[in-house]
Amino acid sequence: MSKEIQKALKATGLDVLSCMQCGICTGSCPSGWNTGFNTRRIIRDAAKNRVTVLSDDNLWLCTTCYTCQERCPRGIPITDTILNLRRLAVREGLILPEHRKVAEMVMERGHAVPLDEETKKKREELGLEPIPETVQKCPEALEELKILLKICKFDELIAER
Ligand code: SF4
Ligand code: SF4
Repeated sequence: MSKEIQKALKATGLDVLSCMQCGICTGSCPSGWNTGFNTRRIIRDAAKNRVTVLSDDNLWLCTTCYTCQERCPRGIPITDTILNLRRLAVREGLILPEHRKVAEMVMERGHAVPLDEETKKKREELGLEPIPETVQKCPEALEELKILLKICKFDELIAER
């Protein structure tokens, strides 16, 4: 995969080679202010085809606020690049356990965070239907969603390897 990172990014119209490592992205990143997340380093590793960028847990700390992308003096689509790196990582089976659990919940219940009994009760107290018009309310729709996700091979994508 290491040789493929640049190629895969370029195929989606993302070119990070013009990065001059000025660090404006890192300084602008609200996520990096409180964590070890360093946007400049992610872009550098992607530009250098370092496969470790895909297994770097920090890759998942971006909140996709797009501040870095708006400020990059070289006009590099940084956030889009991070999203694409995540896609590549998942295809390689590199997915955080927490994210796998959320994905499994979508497969099973149709929602990343299904409504629990307490929330349903609160909704009723507010005069709302306990469950809004979503797949959680409609078993047929949930079955259809499951079929669609299987056709897309979503289950294989998120399976532990
Ligand atoms: S702001 Fe742009 S040019 Fe500067 S380090 Fe970040 S990605 Fe590279
Ligand atoms: S889009 Fe992600 S990397 Fe860029 S500033 Fe926001 S949190 Fe940081």
